[in-house]
Amino acid sequence: MSQQLTYSSKINKIRTFALILVFAGIITMYGGILTKNIEWLMVIFFILGTLMVILSCAVYVWIGTLSLRAVPVICPSCEKPTKMLGRVDACMHCKQPLTMDKNLEGIEFDEKYNSRKYKNK
Ligand SMILES: [Zn+2]
Repeated sequence: MSQQLTYSSKINKIRTFALILVFAGIITMYGGILTKNIEWLMVIFFILGTLMVILSCAVYVWIGTLSLRAVPVICPSCEKPTKMLGRVDACMHCKQPLTMDKNLEGIEFDEKYNSRKYKNK
């Protein structure tokens, strides 16, 4: 069942990535402050930090676009509204794997997911 615990919704994954990127950018800029005696190193740290923050902003805009395309569904497991990206995704709240395409059941996910999925029907 370890796979089920690590499987999270795609939007949540991208959001986590953007958040990590912001922090990485801030830490890199902080590194620039620490190395202010070495001018070229400070400049490199600041440029890298700025790039990471800009990239994370771009990722946030991308999430917004993805969210618009995502299909809102009611999770069969926890009965909360969630958003699905693509044909196969996981519930944002309980990590329940969801699929739009019945033919994909058992292909994208292994038997563990299916047994739980069938129980919910
Ligand atoms: Zn759920």
